[in-house]
Amino acid sequence: MLDTLRRIVQEVNSAPDLYAALNLMVRRVRDAMGTEVCSIYLLNNDKQRYVLMASEGLKAEAIGRASLGVSEGLIGQVGQREEPINLEDAFNHPKFLYLAETGEDPFHAFLGVPVMHQGEVLGVLVVQQRENRRFDQSEEAFLVTISAQLSAVVAHARATGGLNAETPPGTEPPPAIFDGLPGAQGAAIGTAMLIYPAAELASVPDRGADNIEAEVALLDAALVKARAEIRALAERASRSLGPEEQALFEVYLRMLDRHALAGEVVTKIREGNWAQGALRMVIDEHVRNFELMDDSYLRERAADVRDLGRRVLAHLQTDKRRQREYHQDTVLLGEEITTAMLMEVPREYIVGIATSRGSRNSHMAIVARSMGIPTVVGAEGLPLKQLDGREVIVDGFRGRLIANANAELKSQFAQIIREEKNLLAGLEKLRDLPAQTIDGKRIEVMVNTGLMTDISRSLERGAEGVGLYRTEIPFMVQDRFPSEQEQRAIYHEQLKAFAPHSVTMRTLDVGGDKVLPYFPIHEENPFLGWRGIRLTLDHPEIFMVQIRAMLKASEGLNNLRIMLPMVTSVFEVEEAQHLIHRAWLEVRDEGVDVPLPPVGVMIEVPAAVYQARAIAQRVDFLSIGTNDLTQYLLAVDRNNRQVAALYNSWHPAVLHAIMHVIEHAHAEGKPVSVCGEMAGDPGSALMLMAMGVDTLSMNASHLLKVKSAIRRMRITQARKLLYEVLAMDNGEVIASYIELQLEKAGLGDLLNRRRST
Ligand code: PEP
Ligand code: MG
Repeated sequence: MLDTLRRIVQEVNSAPDLYAALNLMVRRVRDAMGTEVCSIYLLNNDKQRYVLMASEGLKAEAIGRASLGVSEGLIGQVGQREEPINLEDAFNHPKFLYLAETGEDPFHAFLGVPVMHQGEVLGVLVVQQRENRRFDQSEEAFLVTISAQLSAVVAHARATGGLNAETPPGTEPPPAIFDGLPGAQGAAIGTAMLIYPAAELASVPDRGADNIEAEVALLDAALVKARAEIRALAERASRSLGPEEQALFEVYLRMLDRHALAGEVVTKIREGNWAQGALRMVIDEHVRNFELMDDSYLRERAADVRDLGRRVLAHLQTDKRRQREYHQDTVLLGEEITTAMLMEVPREYIVGIATSRGSRNSHMAIVARSMGIPTVVGAEGLPLKQLDGREVIVDGFRGRLIANANAELKSQFAQIIREEKNLLAGLEKLRDLPAQTIDGKRIEVMVNTGLMTDISRSLERGAEGVGLYRTEIPFMVQDRFPSEQEQRAIYHEQLKAFAPHSVTMRTLDVGGDKVLPYFPIHEENPFLGWRGIRLTLDHPEIFMVQIRAMLKASEGLNNLRIMLPMVTSVFEVEEAQHLIHRAWLEVRDEGVDVPLPPVGVMIEVPAAVYQARAIAQRVDFLSIGTNDLTQYLLAVDRNNRQVAALYNSWHPAVLHAIMHVIEHAHAEGKPVSVCGEMAGDPGSALMLMAMGVDTLSMNASHLLKVKSAIRRMRITQARKLLYEVLAMDNGEVIASYIELQLEKAGLGDLLNRRRST
């Protein structure tokens, strides 16, 4: 059964479009279950009807025509109840609705299961049989399993299908929306350009051939080189391999023959594809065929075909390094875009970025935030090749990419983009003014930094220091741990740029989703694993070098503060303090005259919330990392799109935890800052101020908005609002309530546009 399932899912997954996928699905399910009918009805949201989209066994004429309202018939019943309905004789069911055009008269036995995706009913999958009989438990379980597996395919194919849908003249295709996660805030409208790593077949986009003969010639030249390469390999192999393995090279050479694979590629070029795309299509098809074979030896041959394809592609790509022309408004698209790939494109052309993989803490996303490029990451299932060259909208506020946008949606986004630009231009005058409410409450506003470019951006916006310098960022761009001297130089730049304001340097916070290419960590549960202080306490040689570099870098400036990430227990604080003290004694012995800097702890784990007082007694300040604190309190992975809707920093548990920390730190006379994303959101920044937070530290791009919100509020007003929301028990309601109250207070222009589209 498992094998059948795997094969069906694999085949359906590689179908070229929605209709092909649905047709394959019903055919294969009918065969696997040995039933007479298998059909799939998909929900048309606009019409609120289930439309028969594919069927094996019902009349072909009914496909695309027969439909039922959402509460009609057994199909509507399955959709409404969101559970299977299994009937010996459907005709006897009170909800049964006879659709004459489908020809279902003779079919009595009925089993329908909902096709659900992310809590939403997409359609209903049905099998029917002539005789009166009840489908047994295992049949029902099979259909439920297959439906669950295929729902993602249907959801994806439906979104993608809209891209290529033939629509009648005068009507617009529906917008195709792909959900991901916000990587960098902002919105952009532009032309998608797929960027992909070299010699990777799967990344080659579909493109038309400008000149068919030229593409064929390119292919021929690449084939000549690939053959020469394989002969050379065979020659080398003859010295070390047996004759059986050597035979493989003969097979390779034969496959490259014009009568075999190469001939098929030429045919695809002649159909109008560029050589690289034609090669990918042919290789994909052969790989698929091999992978479907029952014989495991033959199945493994798929890898050879793939390898051969890669070799030819490498020659195609070096022979024709296409000079890429960038649109003025390029949206970079890619499966995973590395910082290096991003850097290859001149900044002035890039208006947005969207990737189908990657996390908010990937180096590229950090760089994009720092460069102010609206970015969406992790939009799984983004049909990259089909989007290449199309007009798209990047919604970095909500974390989604939109294609096929209609005029209304486009003008809505154009307005958002205009408003953002005007807003930021209008806020520049606040640069040198304090973050102070109308009635005189003053709060410090600082920045989070990591890259060198953050320095100038922060100073331009009037930052009063650095509340979080993420030291792992300079570590990410190296190919080994940076030396003490190298670190010292990097840290000195930061400290010097902001002096006499303080710079809070966080010790190395890697692990979780922050990976160093030269220090891979393999864990089942990285977020609950070897992260932050846990890792550096296990590697004092890394920790000590870092602290020594920080201390030396601060010589003569004396504006360094050191902060410890991912602390769970007081012993970690004590051990780290002990090491910091030792490093200080060492550098003093070396003649570096620096005071022992203030040391603080990040509160980002629930355990640390309940230890806030004990921790505060031992250190000089606390800083709340609301990004991780929200993740750990709510048990919601901050990079998992599937549960992104549950990630809500307005959750009462988060608000009360923050209150608890502030109360206990202040009871010990220690200041508290917030350096997670909450500090940069005008609404939550106001609530944090009302709670009594002493410092807010955020990405430089949010600084002026937050300052503006504070300067347009009264602390009495903010406190009143805080007490109202603290009495509420629902995070969603709190978020809406805050938004409404800020609109009423005339701060609507500052709200992040998460809910605007
Ligand atoms: C946080 O967790 O809130 C935080 C500021 O740290 P990071 O986002 O770097 O994990
Ligand atoms: Mg954190």
